[in-house]
Amino acid sequence: MTAKSITRTVLITGSTSGIGLGIANVFAKNKYNIIFNGLEAEGSAIASSIAKENSIDYLYSPANAMRSAELKTMVDEGLAKFGHIDILVNNAGVQHVAPIEDFPENKWAQILQINLTASYLLTKYLWKQMKQQKFGRIINIASAHGLFASEYKSAYVAAKHGLIGFTKVAALEGAAFNINCNAICPGYVRTPLVELQIRDQAKSHGIPEGEVITRVMLQKQAVKEFVPVELVGNLALFLAGEKAGTLTGTAIPVDGGWSAQ
Ligand code: NAD
Repeated sequence: MTAKSITRTVLITGSTSGIGLGIANVFAKNKYNIIFNGLEAEGSAIASSIAKENSIDYLYSPANAMRSAELKTMVDEGLAKFGHIDILVNNAGVQHVAPIEDFPENKWAQILQINLTASYLLTKYLWKQMKQQKFGRIINIASAHGLFASEYKSAYVAAKHGLIGFTKVAALEGAAFNINCNAICPGYVRTPLVELQIRDQAKSHGIPEGEVITRVMLQKQAVKEFVPVELVGNLALFLAGEKAGTLTGTAIPVDGGWSAQ
């Protein structure tokens, strides 16, 4: 198989909302086969409408990242349909904002499972196939919070720092097999996850919701604008490219200058 004759297949977790949906739109426009995933009730309809609009082949899986068996089934179904899965975008994520002393233990476990452990599991389930075909692109959607901390986000910051660590190990182990692995570290992107946070942050900081955006969120960024999803999508597309193999093991900030300070 030459690179030109292959229609690449990308599996994007959490691709029926927010950043994942933005990434899916970019890959769809570039004619990739897409395995959509997400828990949105309208997930199947979202996936089919993007596929129709862009004339691409697709699969939608409602696999829940809390359950490893469902993730394995999603991979098996994808391999059965397309024969190969070439790019994995570990994007599904959840957040909870609370001081450590009040942080619910079940929320800690859930955040670690969805934001970190599920990424390891999917990488593991796809590894053999990527190794055999000597092509794999793994893109982990970490966060500026994979590089820096903010108060009241203990589980999220721990999970995202862990995800960057895992990214580096996968880069080392994948290098001999043309599998690259990189993390993208966005600043604030206005998605349903961030809308929820505005409410929670207002409670934790004891300030009105309107002030959370300027005083807490964008205060960290030099560019006082939310990061566009298209920017994250186009960076993911670049990292997924045929020639991006030597670009590996990185954690790339897309954060409006947050990390420049
Ligand atoms: P979002 O809430 O819009 O989307 C999250 C997606 O993950 C949804 O499709 C949801 O169904 C899916 N998901 C959640 N729990 C799941 C589970 N148990 N099983 C399967 N799917 C599940 O959020 P978003 O802002 O688009 O976040 C996407 C990723 O980007 C997350 O990893 C998040 O941490 C990261 N991120 C977001 C921002 C931001 O400002 N929005 C910044 C940095 C990083």
